[in-house]
Amino acid sequence: MIRYDQHMHTYFSPDSSETLEAYLDQTTGPIVTTEHLDFNDLFMGGEDTILDYEKYRKTIDQLNTNYNHRIRKGIEIGYTKDSHAQILDYLKDKEFDVQLLSVHQNGEYDFLQPIVKEKNVQDVMNEYFPLLLEALEQFQTANVLTHFDYGIRLSDVSVDELQEHQAILKNVLRKVIDKEMAFELNTRSMYQYGNVALYEQMIKWYLELGGKSFSLGSDAHSTDYYGYHFEDAITLLEEQGVSSVTIFEKQQPTQLPLNTFKQ
Ligand SMILES: [Zn+2]
Ligand SMILES: [Zn+2]
Repeated sequence: MIRYDQHMHTYFSPDSSETLEAYLDQTTGPIVTTEHLDFNDLFMGGEDTILDYEKYRKTIDQLNTNYNHRIRKGIEIGYTKDSHAQILDYLKDKEFDVQLLSVHQNGEYDFLQPIVKEKNVQDVMNEYFPLLLEALEQFQTANVLTHFDYGIRLSDVSVDELQEHQAILKNVLRKVIDKEMAFELNTRSMYQYGNVALYEQMIKWYLELGGKSFSLGSDAHSTDYYGYHFEDAITLLEEQGVSSVTIFEKQQPTQLPLNTFKQ
């Protein structure tokens, strides 16, 4: 069975210890890992989380000779305005098959840190969604917008509450469309953090605005979560009339029919 999960981490990210080989055992098709790049990583006490690209590239090149070139290279860019120049400098001489664009923090705290739970959820959304829009406006080369709800993973937000932010969220989605990026269904956000209804709303808006490009990503940090709840996410997409997802090789998009996931 081919299960292409376009968001996952290995031991090349500091918060994972999973091996590439273990992910290769999860599918007969290609895989991609999307390792963290977070300057001033507040989860790491403000240290920079920088993927060791040379080691990553060499390891994948070696494995690819034994595994029929099944491994692609990816990076999850944790965008902040302050680190924009460092991100560009890091990326300038490196090749990735896919670049994910993420917002994890506001310069003061990461949105998964407990302090967020003490805040008013409207305040959190009023802060987080503009950061997301800013990242999309400023950063030019990414292929996928990840976990639009990262800032509210720790909060309970109803669809009604989300709808109050419709104007800015539609601007976020318009940017994704204008830039020919894919909108990620982050299945851990949906089914572990309980935000599936919020994703359904976003998918509806995205389709209304003319969006066509979806990415399926579990955000796995171990094989336990590889392709997490993909069957449910695929059903949800099919109910909305979507029949394929977008995957990237050398940052070029291809459509992968949802049927492929069922064979
Ligand atoms: Zn992330
Ligand atoms: Zn991730």
